[in-house]
Amino acid sequence: MSPYLSVVIPIFNEEANITTLWKRVSTVLREHFSEPGRDWEVIFTDDGSRDRSLEMLTEIAETEPRVSVVEFNRNYGQHSAIFGAFALVSGQVIVTMDADLQNPPEEIPKLVAKIDEGFDVVGGWRQGRNQNDSLFRTLPSKIVNAVTRKTTGVKLHDYGCMLRAYRREIVEAMLLCKERSSFIPALANSFAKRITEVPVGHAERAAGTSKYGLWKLINLQFDLLTSFSLLPLQMLSVLGVVVSFLGIGFGIYLMIYRILHPEGTVQGVFTLFAILFIFVGAQFLAFGLLGEYIGRIYQEVRDRPRYVVKKIHKVL
Ligand code: UDP
Ligand code: MG
Repeated sequence: MSPYLSVVIPIFNEEANITTLWKRVSTVLREHFSEPGRDWEVIFTDDGSRDRSLEMLTEIAETEPRVSVVEFNRNYGQHSAIFGAFALVSGQVIVTMDADLQNPPEEIPKLVAKIDEGFDVVGGWRQGRNQNDSLFRTLPSKIVNAVTRKTTGVKLHDYGCMLRAYRREIVEAMLLCKERSSFIPALANSFAKRITEVPVGHAERAAGTSKYGLWKLINLQFDLLTSFSLLPLQMLSVLGVVVSFLGIGFGIYLMIYRILHPEGTVQGVFTLFAILFIFVGAQFLAFGLLGEYIGRIYQEVRDRPRYVVKKIHKVL
């Protein structure tokens, strides 16, 4: 019989967390989802870990038939890893969470209860984000949240929290999306009718270090900006108009100045330089943004698989 709840956990070099993670997750699931018809499964994706993570996961899968492990042949990133597990889920409700125990597994029943109430997507909203998360990590997240709210039009407090629950149909719709640069919380919301958030706890990373550096975050932001809106392209036209008007204004100023001070030619040259720099700057910005879109079109057109599964570990 297929389970009611599928829990999806991406793993990238998390050997120090897996034992505790499994202990806590399995305790919660056994406690809350043991009645008939409300069974559970856990699907781990090993996203090309270079430590003992895969070994530890397969050991779990050997003793617990409700656990599967998807092994990627290399590292494809958190969101691809989640997709890799989505392809296998058989539950009616799907919960995603991080492996580093920043998302307490004890909150899972709370999220599932909201789905039972009739919501399609339930997001975790991290209350009192951990003080130890450095400014380097929280400030970019704040910007990501603000821009995402603007571009997707769905007003959630916390897009970054991966402790989330989805109804099965939403996951199936996401699986139909062929694009590679997708940000799961935003993508899910574009298919959902009833979305809600529940406050969840937020702990320090139990062990290991964050797999997200500044560069990965900037990339994620570009993903969001270009996959869910045409805002940058529209801003480009606005910027173009503004710069042109500035140029015209400068031209008029220059003409009047020349008429009033016929001998002041040297200053005129400097003004021209100023105008030139404004234009050059604007052009570079424009090229950069156009390039971003074209680069993405190129990526999508190639239609490469999002990931390659090497093996699925599961005892039958
Ligand atoms: N992760 C992954 N592939 C990656 C990076 C991260 O599967 O390339 C997993 C990681 O193992 C963890 C989750 O994604 O379970 C979130 O990663 P992390 O805690 O490093 O992100 P942060 O909490 O700093 O946003
Ligand atoms: Mg984390």
